[in-house]
Amino acid sequence: MLASQPFHLMIKPAGPACNLACSYCYYLDKAAYYPGSRFRMDDDTLAAVTAGYLQCHPGKEAVFGWQGGEPLLAGLEFYRRAVDLQQQHARPGQRTLNALQTNATLVDDEWAAFFREHDFLIGASMDGPPGLHDRYRRDRAGRPSYRRVLSGLHALRRHGVECNALVTVNRGNDEHGLEVYRHLTGLGFSHLQFIPVVERSSQGTAKATAWSVRPHALGQFLCEVFDHWARNDVGRVFVQLFESALNVWLTGEPTLCVFSRTCGRALAVEHNGDLYACDHFVSPSHLLGKASPEALAALVDGPQQRAFGAAKADVAEDCRACPVLRFCGGDCPKHRLRAGRAKRPISHLCSAYRRFFTHSASVLEAMAQEVRAGRPAANVTEVLRQGGGGGPQRAV
Ligand code: SF4
Ligand code: SF4
Repeated sequence: MLASQPFHLMIKPAGPACNLACSYCYYLDKAAYYPGSRFRMDDDTLAAVTAGYLQCHPGKEAVFGWQGGEPLLAGLEFYRRAVDLQQQHARPGQRTLNALQTNATLVDDEWAAFFREHDFLIGASMDGPPGLHDRYRRDRAGRPSYRRVLSGLHALRRHGVECNALVTVNRGNDEHGLEVYRHLTGLGFSHLQFIPVVERSSQGTAKATAWSVRPHALGQFLCEVFDHWARNDVGRVFVQLFESALNVWLTGEPTLCVFSRTCGRALAVEHNGDLYACDHFVSPSHLLGKASPEALAALVDGPQQRAFGAAKADVAEDCRACPVLRFCGGDCPKHRLRAGRAKRPISHLCSAYRRFFTHSASVLEAMAQEVRAGRPAANVTEVLRQGGGGGPQRAV
């Protein structure tokens, strides 16, 4: 049975197991849901998930997302088998792609050669130069990881593997936007994802953890990176969050689930085949069932998952009256920690997004006009360099 629309699976072949122990990680404590587990996906589960996904994914292209914990702990043989199974189970004309998110510390030449051979897209986690990266990204013994990440990145580069940077914006680097951006682009990254760290400090409180990003700092971080990017790097460097905002100017739709009106088409699969509503909601109350060929389509389109996705659109009055709602979508429900008007929850990051989407409006709108006219968005860079675009920002 085919699902009604394309969807995405984020598969955790080693569950929450990881060789690092980053202080802000939201996933390590999921181990508590599987007491005694070795956290390795076995062959039967891999075969069932692969067959189920390819049988019921309606698009021409099915993307297998691999994540953890640290997904490389599953071992290279696991991925060789995964690629074989994809070839066995792909429907005629169906293309399979693999995107793997890693801390990059375990990548060596053998891994890199495999990724190149099978066109894996790698997302490598790096939070900036060593002093910023190592603040939270350490192993269990407290040892920093930056040098090991760099060694993995060098291996990926030697083999020509396509690699994006996944940058968490947290309490440690949130006042260093430009420094982080310059460091990563200096390392040769041309695709950057900024992922704000927002964790509730304990159930029932609106307080975020000590390592969560500060909203005012995130607003400043995004604005200063945006200004630099718009003057120097449009068309050469791609920042996922900026691309999403530009897409709203072009088509009315954001490209990221966190900014969309509804969500629920990106599901998580744990090492034993358990299917959850989303990687941000892996908990017993969001467990849908097993990602098997018999059940997957019905679970993805089922009432529980539809209700989960639709609930995102039920935003607070503050958001309904907000001029940037079409860019922000009220943010991810996981980030809605703060009480807004009428005590409805709104995003911890609200002030950051109000500021950034307002600040970027006139420049992105000008870029969208260029693109619509069939010209490169980067034309705007020349205007900005000649001193344009420095006036008051237009309301959105
Ligand atoms: S819960 Fe958040 S991360 Fe998950 S699909 Fe919805 S918006 Fe995206
Ligand atoms: S900026 Fe704030 S008020 Fe506006 S849509 Fe986003 S979360 Fe809601």
